[in-house]
Amino acid sequence: MGAALPRKELFDIPEGVIYLDGNSLGVLPKGAVARATEVIRDEWGGQLIKAWNTAGWMALPAGVGDTIAGLIGAPAGAVATGDTLSIKVYQALAASLRMRPDRRVILSDNGNFPSDLYMAEGLINTIDKGYVLRTPAPVDVLDAITDEVAVVMLTQVDYRTGRMHNVQEVTQAAHAAGAVMIWDLAHSAGAVPVDMTASHAEFAVGCTYKYLNGGPGAPAFIYARPDIILDLQPALSGWLGHAAPFAMEQAYRPAMSTERLRVGTPSIVQLSILQEALKVWEGVDMADLRAASIRLSETFIAEVEARCASLTLASPRDPAMRGSQVSFAFENGYPAMQALIERGVIGDFRAPDIMRFGFTPLYLDQAEIVRAAEIIEDVISNEVWRDPKYHMRSRVT
Ligand SMILES: *Cc1c(COP(=O)(O)O)cnc(C)c1O
Repeated sequence: MGAALPRKELFDIPEGVIYLDGNSLGVLPKGAVARATEVIRDEWGGQLIKAWNTAGWMALPAGVGDTIAGLIGAPAGAVATGDTLSIKVYQALAASLRMRPDRRVILSDNGNFPSDLYMAEGLINTIDKGYVLRTPAPVDVLDAITDEVAVVMLTQVDYRTGRMHNVQEVTQAAHAAGAVMIWDLAHSAGAVPVDMTASHAEFAVGCTYKYLNGGPGAPAFIYARPDIILDLQPALSGWLGHAAPFAMEQAYRPAMSTERLRVGTPSIVQLSILQEALKVWEGVDMADLRAASIRLSETFIAEVEARCASLTLASPRDPAMRGSQVSFAFENGYPAMQALIERGVIGDFRAPDIMRFGFTPLYLDQAEIVRAAEIIEDVISNEVWRDPKYHMRSRVT
C-alpha cells in the first residue's frame, strides 16, 4: 500500500476553490515558496556564479530527470529536463527522422495538441525534403501505420476528450512497420501509470506544470531509450548538450549520455521548484492513484449526467479508455465555464464547445466532486451562463 490519498496537506489551495484544472496548471505545493526563496536569496543572491558548483545547479537538470524517470517507468539517467515541451517534441521528431532516412511520413492524429503538430510542420518546412504530416482520427491511427511512416508521434491522453491510446499496442504496431515511436506524456505523467521501459518506445516527452505541479513555465522532459542514446543526433546542438561544455571547443561533440538532449542554460529557479514539487509523489503508488482517479471521474460523470441533461459526455465512457480528465460538450461551454469559475469550480474550456475537468487524486476528494456537480447543475439549469459578463473572451481560456 502506498501513501493515503488525497494528500491535501502538502498543497496550498485557496479556500472555497474546487480545482478541476490540475491537468492544465497544477496547484502550489507547500514547499515551493520556501524553496524558491532560498534559491533566489541564498543561492543566487548569496553565492552568485559560484552556485553553479556550490549549490549543485549544474547537476539539477539530471537529478530532477531521475525523479521524473521514476514516475514514468524509466531507468535513472534516461530522462533529460529543460526547455518547454514544444522544444522537446521538436528534438524527438528531428532525431527520429534521422533514424529513418529513407522514409518521409510523420504520423500523428487530429486529436493531438496543436503545438505538437505545429512543431512537426515547422520541422518539415525547415528540412524541406518532402516530408509530410498525416493526422488521421485517433481511432484510425493503427491502420495508418504503414511502411512509409518514419515516426509515429502521439499524445497518449487526448487533451480535449481524455481518450487514451493503448501505448503497448500502438508502439508494437509502429515497430512492426519499422517506424520510431514518440509518446507525448503531457496528460499522462502523474495522471496514469506509465511504463516507458515496458513500452519499448524510443522517445517520450512531457511537461511538468500539469499533473506534476511544477508551476507555470516549469521545464519539460524528454526520455530516450537507453540503447539508442549514443546514436542519437541532436538537432538542437546547444553547448550544454556538448560532451565538454567548458572546453569551449569550436565544433559540437554530443555528450555520451542523455545530457546530449540538453540545449542551453537551465532555468534554475523553476527546476528547484519542480524538484520540491516532485516530493509530493514520495510513497505514492501509481496504481492507487489511478484507482482514486477513476473513482473521482466516475462519480463526476454520474452526478453531472443525473443533473444536467443538456451536457453531453465527450470523453470515453469506459474508464479504462480515459485518462484523468472528463469533458462535456455544451454549446454555451465558454460562458458556463466562466460562471463556474466565479463560483469556485475551476475547470477550463477548449474550443469549440468542450468543458474540461481534470482529476488530481493528490488533492481532490469525493465530497468536492459532488459539490462541484451541484454547482454545475445550478449554472446549467438556471442558465446562469446567459449573463453577458460571462461571454467576454479572455486571452487564455
Ligand atoms: C500542454 C501541452 C503542450 C504545451 O507545450 P509547451 O511547449 O509546454 O507550451 C504541448 N503538447 C501537449 C500534448 C500538451 O498537452
